[in-house]
Amino acid sequence: MIKEVKIVSKNFDIPNSHNIEVALKNGRYSSIDKLWSYNNQDIIDIVKDSGLRGKGGGGASAGDKWALMPLDGDKPNYLVINCDESEPGTFKDREIISKDPHLLIEGIIYSAYAINSHQAYIYIRGEYKEFQDILQSAIDEAYSKNFLGENIFNRGYNLDITIHRGAGAYICGEKSALLESLEGKRGHPRLKPHQKEPEWYFDNPTLVNNVETIASVPFIINNGAEAYKSYGTELSSGTLLFALSGHIKNRGVYEAEFGTSMMDYINHYGGGIRDNKKLKAVIPGGASTTILTAKEVENITLDYESLRAIGSSLGTGGMIIIDEDTNMVEALKNLVEFYHHESCGQCTPCREGSSWVDTIMKSILDGVANNRDIDKILEIANTMNGKTVCVFAPALADVIRGFILKFRDEFEGYIKVD
Ligand code: SF4
Repeated sequence: MIKEVKIVSKNFDIPNSHNIEVALKNGRYSSIDKLWSYNNQDIIDIVKDSGLRGKGGGGASAGDKWALMPLDGDKPNYLVINCDESEPGTFKDREIISKDPHLLIEGIIYSAYAINSHQAYIYIRGEYKEFQDILQSAIDEAYSKNFLGENIFNRGYNLDITIHRGAGAYICGEKSALLESLEGKRGHPRLKPHQKEPEWYFDNPTLVNNVETIASVPFIINNGAEAYKSYGTELSSGTLLFALSGHIKNRGVYEAEFGTSMMDYINHYGGGIRDNKKLKAVIPGGASTTILTAKEVENITLDYESLRAIGSSLGTGGMIIIDEDTNMVEALKNLVEFYHHESCGQCTPCREGSSWVDTIMKSILDGVANNRDIDKILEIANTMNGKTVCVFAPALADVIRGFILKFRDEFEGYIKVD
């Protein structure tokens, strides 16, 4: 049984909830007075205690990340919101910015205050122009009410929000590539330091968080860490905006608490598989996560730990539903083409590997490959692991391995030569 819960999506169905007057009537900015009763460290501690985890795919503790920001440094701190939602199967952040943009703005005010930042950037996917326009109107409304700008809410605090539109590169959703792009450079991921430290924007400490992560903060400030922890599981607290796409009757974004049965979720919100077909597989958290067979889906729950335990990951929670009629070789070719096209090209295993896998996949579909070619794809996937600047290539390796190891008979069905 599904327990329906709405924390982030509470106002999604209210007509014109993107309008500030409607938003105010429905609770937006209502906990702002509470905010000023806390100091920076209080807010960081509350977020840490709540167990809030990054909702852009990584799932790291949000509070731990916030705690890395220096609160009394001599450089300005920046807050950057990652709205470069480009992962196939993932379309939850656009729900927030189009249906309840004031929730995000409210979350930005709380988060910026917590890390002592006076400038926030929202880096938005280039293809999201229509959603950007809605968000910009909401930001303009917030400025007109003195919720943004100088001396906001007459509390002596200054905060500006600027939207920066990307140019359509998938890799700019990776936070360090995003920051390079924001600095006006080519969107190439950066090498990561060994020790934990903040990100840097023009050499200044910077916090990068996903839209939904920041949109979860007002509920936590308003209701406290314990209220947030009362949803979900012990290690995956709260909720996530899971998304359903593919061969499902009701595609869309529906919030659920962590720990919900995946099968119950698919049946309750999705209405079951389209045309009453049988389920064949699910890509559980956006295209970069390892595919699950229908058998694996039967007993899995929607939380970080459960997905990790069976060798996949929760990712962004964007589930791609695949029915019994799907050709898995064609499906993998489609994904590999995407990754080949989107590789930023910095690392040889990624640039060359994705190209070679794409070429071999074509030869399989053309009926001119042999069995050794299937193993060659797996060997190439192995060269992508742990040898690249970012996790794009290891994720692609997992995608490839998942399809071939779980559906190898379909690949072998194409082999006609020795
Ligand atoms: Fe670029 Fe791929 Fe290297 Fe990531 S792994 S930095 S996408 S080449």
